[in-house]
Amino acid sequence: MRVLGIETSCDETGIAIYDTEQGIIADALHSQVAVHAEYGGVVPELASRDHIKKTLPLIRQVLAEAKLSSEDIDAVAYTAGPGLIGALMVGACLGRALAYGWNVPALGVHHMEGHLLAPMLEEQPPEFPFVALLVSGGHTQLVDVKAIGCYEVIGESLDDAAGEAFDKAAKMLDLDYPGGPEIAKLAESGDPHRFKFPRPMVDRPGLDFSFSGLKTFTLNLIQKHTVDGPLPDPQTMADIAAGFEQAVVDTVAIKCRRALEQTGYKRLVMAGGVSANRKLRAELGQKLAAVKATVFYARPEFCTDNGAMIAYAGACRLAAGQHADLSVVAYPRWPMDQLEALDHAG
Ligand code: ATP
Ligand code: MG
Ligand code: FE
Repeated sequence: MRVLGIETSCDETGIAIYDTEQGIIADALHSQVAVHAEYGGVVPELASRDHIKKTLPLIRQVLAEAKLSSEDIDAVAYTAGPGLIGALMVGACLGRALAYGWNVPALGVHHMEGHLLAPMLEEQPPEFPFVALLVSGGHTQLVDVKAIGCYEVIGESLDDAAGEAFDKAAKMLDLDYPGGPEIAKLAESGDPHRFKFPRPMVDRPGLDFSFSGLKTFTLNLIQKHTVDGPLPDPQTMADIAAGFEQAVVDTVAIKCRRALEQTGYKRLVMAGGVSANRKLRAELGQKLAAVKATVFYARPEFCTDNGAMIAYAGACRLAAGQHADLSVVAYPRWPMDQLEALDHAG
């Protein structure tokens, strides 16, 4: 079976084909970063219009790359939510229409389920059950995952998402969007211990996060160390970036460890854009190995938004006999624990 995946929930057009025998056989991504750069954030209307321009050419491109025609596609999976409604509608309308035209099933996929399952595309996929750490631009959640579709959110951010905090801190440091990779790069030449960043919420019980304090701390540091000119000296900038990154890594690691203790699971699956962070991957692996837990994550390009994760999640749901009806539905908000569980997982 071959499933075409379409991701258009935000500012990336991702298209891929997943083959149940061979895995991902074609994968294309178009980022809208340049479209939104001058506005300082994603402009929803521009995002929708750009998805309209890019989806069909990218679908043709992946089909050509896989040396397939539309007749070789057995199902079409599209992101049905959560995300920007206009952007979602582009993928949902096109995905539903293509499936109708090709006379194959359509599947409306949950974007965060896509992220969560992306590590399954790697060589040594995790077995169920596990704790999932979802760290992306819009979400920071700890999820008790018993099987595909059996999700219980056991902790989340009370304010900014981890990726959002990276992006906002990057903006304060006059770095480009997306801020996560920029902060990580600057942090390489910084001292993570020069400034004593807080480790928010770690002395309180529970699994919730808060990142807005790190943002305020960053802003105060920048103001305090700006002598002449608009920003502190380059070394101080790097030290701030390193301190910020370390604070996120430490905080996340403490909560993950707590989630593993609470559930008794020995596997942690990290997904979403921030899971591409090299320091987080390395240190979470080390810190959790100390409690005999294994950390799983996707290759970096499948951590941020992509079509592969949508094609894969669609294939899992198709295998369990699910598919969408003929209506085109998209959900800007869609709590994960409302998803339907699969009868047979895996
Ligand atoms: P959501 O998935 O919650 O709807 P999204 O789709 O916008 O949000 P993703 O595409 O999963 O989010 O991830 C993008 C986020 O990941 C951005 O905030 C970006 O700064 C962050 N990010 C990407 N790479 C890194 C990195 N190496 N280190 C830290 N953060 C990173
Ligand atoms: Mg994005
Ligand atoms: Fe995402």
